[in-house]
Amino acid sequence: MATVAVPVPRPSAKERLTALRATAESAYIDPSQSIIRYYRSSKQLYETASYEANHGNNEKAYMLIMRFLDLYVTRIPKHPKYHSVPEDLRNSTKALIKKALDLGQDLKIKLLADFENEIKLEEEDELNRQRALQRNEDKSSDLDDLVDRIGRLNALHDGESLGFPRSAGEDGGENFAIHQAHETWPADISGARIGTEAWPSNENEDFSPTHPVHPTVDRSTKPRAPPRGRISSETLRPVRVPAGLVKLFSDAAKENTMFKNIETCGNLWGVRESGSYVVTHVLIPNQKGTDSYCEDLDEGTVAEYAITRDLIQLGWIHTHPSQTAFLSSVDMHMQHGYQIMLPEAIAIVLAPTYDDVGFFRLTDYGMDIVSRCREGTTFHTHDDIQPLFDLAEEVLLDDTLPAKIEDFR
Ligand SMILES: [Zn+2]
Ligand SMILES: [Zn+2]
Repeated sequence: MATVAVPVPRPSAKERLTALRATAESAYIDPSQSIIRYYRSSKQLYETASYEANHGNNEKAYMLIMRFLDLYVTRIPKHPKYHSVPEDLRNSTKALIKKALDLGQDLKIKLLADFENEIKLEEEDELNRQRALQRNEDKSSDLDDLVDRIGRLNALHDGESLGFPRSAGEDGGENFAIHQAHETWPADISGARIGTEAWPSNENEDFSPTHPVHPTVDRSTKPRAPPRGRISSETLRPVRVPAGLVKLFSDAAKENTMFKNIETCGNLWGVRESGSYVVTHVLIPNQKGTDSYCEDLDEGTVAEYAITRDLIQLGWIHTHPSQTAFLSSVDMHMQHGYQIMLPEAIAIVLAPTYDDVGFFRLTDYGMDIVSRCREGTTFHTHDDIQPLFDLAEEVLLDDTLPAKIEDFR
């Protein structure tokens, strides 16, 4: 009958920081992707981390800054075309690396202090919980004694063994004592304990779950936020998309879709505004496509256009002329590249034949699987025991936002 508390191992502050850092390292450099693109994104990644730090989102900021350092210090130098990167791009990224190291150090100190505090609070919670349990345990023991004594009294009286509890009227006066016991049940005994351990299974109706016994809950024993150490999808900022954007892109893709059966792709660019991301532009680069694939041929022009307007890359959009809306294995690798640079980045897929549009993101599981896959350029299968991608729930379609499309083809 005694409740045995199983101590839950509590990760230390350092272990929490290490777990956060591990999330940062779900990035890899795809050698088939342009190294210039990675370099162009370095500023965006650094600025996103800095933005989150300035808004007090230290965990997310730390994850992003560690990702930045992992990418630009450890991984990029191994890219086969590392030496082809123009000097000025390399230098500007070097300057960012220095700033990132400072920011990373600053965040590390803050987070360790946060985690230490959090652990202290968790330990206090645990202690309070144990004390509350102990109090209930003592009360239950009193009740067990009472039940035992009544049972023995019953047995003495009519020769039965412990036939407790009985329905009302079945055994007259003795049952009164039981009801008395119910009525005087201490108000602060938890319902779960009543139902699962202290009470016989064929409960008297007075103690069905609907009985108005209101367990007093010690607020200090309520669980706080779940242990930290991992960036989850819940920390994503909303992405506002102009409601008219899909139609605009669909019109621009019409010829490829209707007459050539080839895919069309574009990039989503925008700004940060009041705590969310807002898509302001779809830029359609010069490209080549097939019925199931689309590739930028000149991302330089598009990037130039976006950078001079201070736009942030928020994801991409493409058509599936004859298929449904989903992310193919190749799409997933493309999306992974966007999502490591900005966790909020989305993939919009238009399937005109099925009159369907999907707004997708890779799941944490998908990010992990794709980061370890080296078959990005041809269609292949991924281990999908869990969903690899999902609907991007943080997307908000907004019909007050203007949609602007620039076609560079
Ligand atoms: Zn696709
Ligand atoms: Zn893959």
